[in-house]
Amino acid sequence: MDEKKVQITVAKSAGFCPGVKSAIDKVLELSKQRTKKIYTLGPLIHNRQVIETLKEKNIDSIDSPDEIKDKDCIVVIRAHGIPPVEEARLRSIGCEVVDATCPLVKRAQEKIRIYALQGYDTIIVGDKKHAEITGLLGYTEGRGRVISGPEEVHTLPHFEKLNVVAQTTQEPDVFAKAAELLKEKADTLVVSNTICHPTTHRQKETVEQSSTSDLVIVVGGKNSANTTRLFQIAERLAKKAVHIEKADDLSKKMFNGVQKVFITAGASTPSWMIENIAEAVHLILEKPKNPFVSALSFIWRLAITGSLFTAISSVALTYVCMRLEGVPISYKVMAMAGLFVFSLHTLNRALEKGTSSADKVRQFLFADHRNFSHAVAYVSGIAALVLSFTINWKVFLAAAFFWGIGISYPHKTQYVLANLGKFFPTSKDLFTTFGWAYMCAYVPALQGAGIGISKHSIYAVFFAFLLVFMRSVLCGVVQVHSDLIVGRENFYKAVGHIPTFITLFFFYAMLSATLFTLYLMDWNTTLVLSLLGGLVYYLVLLSAFAKRRIPERTTADTLIDIQFIVLAALTYLA
Ligand code: SF4
Repeated sequence: MDEKKVQITVAKSAGFCPGVKSAIDKVLELSKQRTKKIYTLGPLIHNRQVIETLKEKNIDSIDSPDEIKDKDCIVVIRAHGIPPVEEARLRSIGCEVVDATCPLVKRAQEKIRIYALQGYDTIIVGDKKHAEITGLLGYTEGRGRVISGPEEVHTLPHFEKLNVVAQTTQEPDVFAKAAELLKEKADTLVVSNTICHPTTHRQKETVEQSSTSDLVIVVGGKNSANTTRLFQIAERLAKKAVHIEKADDLSKKMFNGVQKVFITAGASTPSWMIENIAEAVHLILEKPKNPFVSALSFIWRLAITGSLFTAISSVALTYVCMRLEGVPISYKVMAMAGLFVFSLHTLNRALEKGTSSADKVRQFLFADHRNFSHAVAYVSGIAALVLSFTINWKVFLAAAFFWGIGISYPHKTQYVLANLGKFFPTSKDLFTTFGWAYMCAYVPALQGAGIGISKHSIYAVFFAFLLVFMRSVLCGVVQVHSDLIVGRENFYKAVGHIPTFITLFFFYAMLSATLFTLYLMDWNTTLVLSLLGGLVYYLVLLSAFAKRRIPERTTADTLIDIQFIVLAALTYLA
């Protein structure tokens, strides 16, 4: 097999569908706001890592309300929905019920209910055993039947008034054929097409790609109805199709004679899992790598995943700020900023759930050598605090405050500082920004201050604040696109795509205005002009991310942090 000749395409529509995404967000928000035990009626998604993460947050999946022991709890109805009778039963038990039914499933329930109340019988075209169907049947006033497709229409009796609806993840062709045949089975027929848009889009892409692919890999749970449907489409149209749940299910012989591979996934398959599969396919197809190139690639991933590159970026920013402030270069302050950032980012990354293609490196760092990497991170943090103490005790106190919040952030509610941090939306980006701006810009200004901090230093601190805030938000964008489990403490998650990028472009304009003001003040004009030129890089990156052109996580993180290195290099040359 020659990898060059094999074309690998990953579906643009792959990743969590909006219904699943919103249900997960809702549950995570609840776990932050409330201390009560949370149950989901059935698993939110069929993914082991996500389920484990939810368990750690005191969120358990139950199959029936009978499993609830303490009634002082919250029960979440998942995206599939449940019958109204079951919902009433849940409420009568006395526990708090939170409805995370997908709005598109609710629309289907409503269509059924309206016609059922007018005396219509209901036919649902879907999977008889699926939870969504059980929920939909509950709205039919006891006059509902389920067929899996047009081939079962002949088994039905004649109806006076009939409403035909689809399971939201049904294939449009199957539904249309069934509806057509049902015309003969009813005096009055209402066709309610309740197939959801994300499913239509996903299936359309699979149809288009399958007809031109030699091998289609469908990723997702074997018990997921929508994944099975994607597989059936692929099996029909592609030369070969496989349905897998994990990278280990791939084998070399699957790729014999294959020139074009298409990878798609079901609605509850996280993006990072799809990236893992894509990477595994590349590994199977590629020629044995030059050991030197392999080593370089591993070191690069290690530097990014282990936050070493981020620490170097913070050192670069400190250097830029010192030059911009016109204070003497202090290697001690640069080392302090780097150690501080390294410590916090390593500890936070170790606790992330779900990762992109950096999984092997993550395994190496945070599983195989977990104690070692934690020890290095804590020692770095303590070293940063010791260095801050040698400057003065006020610097130490502020550094200790930011470090304390940073290390407690990913933990549960028993840590007061963690709760403080999670109190308001976007808090994670703001605390990160204050911590960096303090260490990289304010401490150098304090060191260089005679009687008081100069106005140039104030501009430099503001410059650092804006730059780091943009970095933090962009990293958050990448995390959400990798389906990492993050909450509203992440700016992007809290405000959404368009407001995020309006804010970022506005901050970019302020960043440029800050530098331009320094230029007008005739302050180190060569340096200021160089930095203005260097910022064009961020403008390009912002524009690409705004158009959702976001690469896999390791590359994206590299592209974000490189901005600081570019600015430091231009500062050095200026
Ligand atoms: S597949 Fe469609 S209907 Fe089902 S949860 Fe996702 S968006 Fe909602």
